[in-house]
Amino acid sequence: MIQYSLQCSKGHRFDAWFKSAAAYDDQKARGIVSCAQCGDGQVEKAPMAPNVARKDGERLPVSAGHADAARMRELLRQYRSKVMEEADYVGDRFAEEARKIHFEEVEARGIYGEASRDDVAGLIEDGVDFLPLPDIGDDN
Ligand SMILES: [Zn+2]
Repeated sequence: MIQYSLQCSKGHRFDAWFKSAAAYDDQKARGIVSCAQCGDGQVEKAPMAPNVARKDGERLPVSAGHADAARMRELLRQYRSKVMEEADYVGDRFAEEARKIHFEEVEARGIYGEASRDDVAGLIEDGVDFLPLPDIGDDN
């Protein structure tokens, strides 16, 4: 089963389950996917907020209302901009470079870049010390 967030031409959003992606395409082609609220047959997959809905069922840890929130947010912003100013950007070679530093194959230095979920799991397994780079916008 696969769940899609759908949206009709009038902007109603609703979730619907289908046996498979192909079943959705088939039912949509036959015009039998319709809005749960108004019956409109002009239904499309609703756009997802890219940083929130990453995968079906995935949940992000979040918090609100703590007295230290503003101070911590400011510190995380400062940490991020300090890293981006002072550390070397290594792009998707992050895991490789972090390992070299960890195993002292190269001189220690600050780096930042991108890592896949597999990279992250591997680095944790190898005991490499690293942190997520907090991505906190001014409006967040
Ligand atoms: Zn509708």
